[in-house]
Amino acid sequence: MSIKLENFEEDVHLLIAERGKEYFDANQVLMLKQTLDGWSAVIEGSETYQVLLEGHDIIHGWHCTCPFEHGPVCKHVAAVFYAARENLRANISSASGELDRWIDEADPDVIRRILKMEIRKSDDARTSVYHEMKSS
Ligand SMILES: [Zn+2]
Repeated sequence: MSIKLENFEEDVHLLIAERGKEYFDANQVLMLKQTLDGWSAVIEGSETYQVLLEGHDIIHGWHCTCPFEHGPVCKHVAAVFYAARENLRANISSASGELDRWIDEADPDVIRRILKMEIRKSDDARTSVYHEMKSS
């Protein structure tokens, strides 16, 4: 079975998709990366699980380290579906210049909130902010 990331909700049990969205909305999908084969991410909750997806926009395999055995896709994999799809959409938006335009017009408080979130998640963002602040 393969799943199109763009409309994966059609192939995932509704309750599982909803639980996955909760993880995603709560920023519990960490270290999302595109790999040669697909995607990898870590889900942080009461326990930490590693999720791997095979495929980039059409997912033809997935794996989670949780003990879930009640269906083909667990809530952690669903959470990574949301995160990976948003990552793809953000890349398209960035490539078209839409994100740059949005940043130019955004409320500074929104930018501050995003940046504070990013420096907790990303080494690169933390280093960039430190570098800019230290040299200014
Ligand atoms: Zn799982």
